[in-house]
Amino acid sequence: MKDRSGRILVIGAGMAGLTAARTLADAGRHVLVLEARDRVGGRIRTLRDQSEILELGAEFIHGHPDELWGLIHEAGLRTYALDGKNICHKNGKLRKCDEQGEVFKFLNGLEKWKGVDLAFADYPPLAKLSPEKQDDVINYVQSFNAADYRRIGVHALAVQQRAEEEIAGGEVFRVLDGYDRVPEFMANKVREAGGRIELSRTVEKIVWERGRVQVFVRDGGELAQYSAEQAVIALPLGVLQNLGVIFDPLPAALIAARQLAMGPVRRFTLLFSERWWAAHDQKLSKLSFLFAHDAMPPVWWTAHPQDTPTLTGWIGGPRSAAFDQFTREQVGDAACKELAQIFAVPVAMLRGQLLCCATHDWQTDPLSCGAYSYVPAGALDAVLTMATPVKQTLYFAGEHTDTTGHWGTVHAAMRSGLRAAKQVLSAGRAQLSVVSRTARRV
Ligand SMILES: Cc1cc2nc3c(=O)[nH]c(=O)nc-3n(C[C@H](O)[C@H](O)[C@H](O)COP(=O)(O)OP(=O)(O)OC[C@H]3O[C@@H](n4cnc5c(N)ncnc54)[C@H](O)[C@@H]3O)c2cc1C
Repeated sequence: MKDRSGRILVIGAGMAGLTAARTLADAGRHVLVLEARDRVGGRIRTLRDQSEILELGAEFIHGHPDELWGLIHEAGLRTYALDGKNICHKNGKLRKCDEQGEVFKFLNGLEKWKGVDLAFADYPPLAKLSPEKQDDVINYVQSFNAADYRRIGVHALAVQQRAEEEIAGGEVFRVLDGYDRVPEFMANKVREAGGRIELSRTVEKIVWERGRVQVFVRDGGELAQYSAEQAVIALPLGVLQNLGVIFDPLPAALIAARQLAMGPVRRFTLLFSERWWAAHDQKLSKLSFLFAHDAMPPVWWTAHPQDTPTLTGWIGGPRSAAFDQFTREQVGDAACKELAQIFAVPVAMLRGQLLCCATHDWQTDPLSCGAYSYVPAGALDAVLTMATPVKQTLYFAGEHTDTTGHWGTVHAAMRSGLRAAKQVLSAGRAQLSVVSRTARRV
């Protein structure tokens, strides 16, 4: 067995692991990142089909989170803001709508809830809405959070709503050159600062005690061992919950991880030969989001203001099971049928124009085991437990460990990586103050 040593190991080269690695390497620490995939970026994955950019994971920059925008500017990446019309499909008709505005108004009221933490389904004001409004709110909560509304907690939703307001989360942007340029740039910065990133290294087991970590990695057919004094564990929540990596002994953070939830999403992008919806109805030429609650998927969007002929379908939460086991071709086929109904156009025309259907199944991917996390009722403390250093030796990072309420986003992953790196760098009492400050925030 090979033995390779490093002072700090970072497990996982998603945005959390890369952010931690860069911060530590910039501070002069000897850092080695181990990543199972043959690329960095984790749940940021971009496909390029000739001149088209197709995102399979994260696509949007939500609002103005400083750390993400700082990196984008540093990398000189081009972005653009989403604008255009939001359209609802209801009772067989397409009409302009401000569905999100009404939903946000309702969700802003969550902050006033002073009672115990409840599942959103049991939140008393929800029952007072008309059945139609209830549907709108539940669909939004499930879609956006990839959550089951019978589990997601009212307290966490309130924290998240406030957090989004603070960064003007309603303003949404895309990276013109593809989101994967962000982690690629970050990985280069890690290397420039003297850190190392080893790809195709699947961690199987972590044996640890105070001040000593041994990581066992499958390197082709061979088992390799890496040793370090500390490790930042930036693995997805789903991987931790499914014991994709064995910890010996089991840290309390992993028991806390079981209280959190990893939500499912089915997301796919259909690339057509032209923007047929704009040709079909001039009023749709600026179509941005389409909400069609009775359809599957219930949420769609175009690339507007870019004129790329794509339509992306999104099903977040339990309803995504409708597309479980579907091949890419079956997803494309089912989506064309649904679109034909919504837009009242012949399905054969859509099938004829469909060039490809790009999708990735994050649920069955063993390196993610789900799309992103949410916080069930009563589980807010579990986030803090996960964000607390374990015997100054293990430091958990990843979007699910964010203590600022932005779970399930790229900037949450970055914040968690930054927090973990700061904890490593400021051992002792300073670590505790970081945690207690964030505790007050949550
Ligand atoms: C479909 C979808 C759409 C999304 N849309 C958006 C969006 O529009 N905007 C937004 O802000 N966020 C979005 N997100 C969420 C965002 O992608 C994530 O919150 C963020 O990328 C998570 O980063 P991370 O570093 O915490 O985890 P990851 O990116 O998952 O990184 C973890 C890394 O660990 C690696 N790993 C796993 N197991 C092992 C192992 N055994 N050994 C070694 N390495 C291992 C993985 O390969 C991965 O690279 C979306 C996510 C999905 C799935």
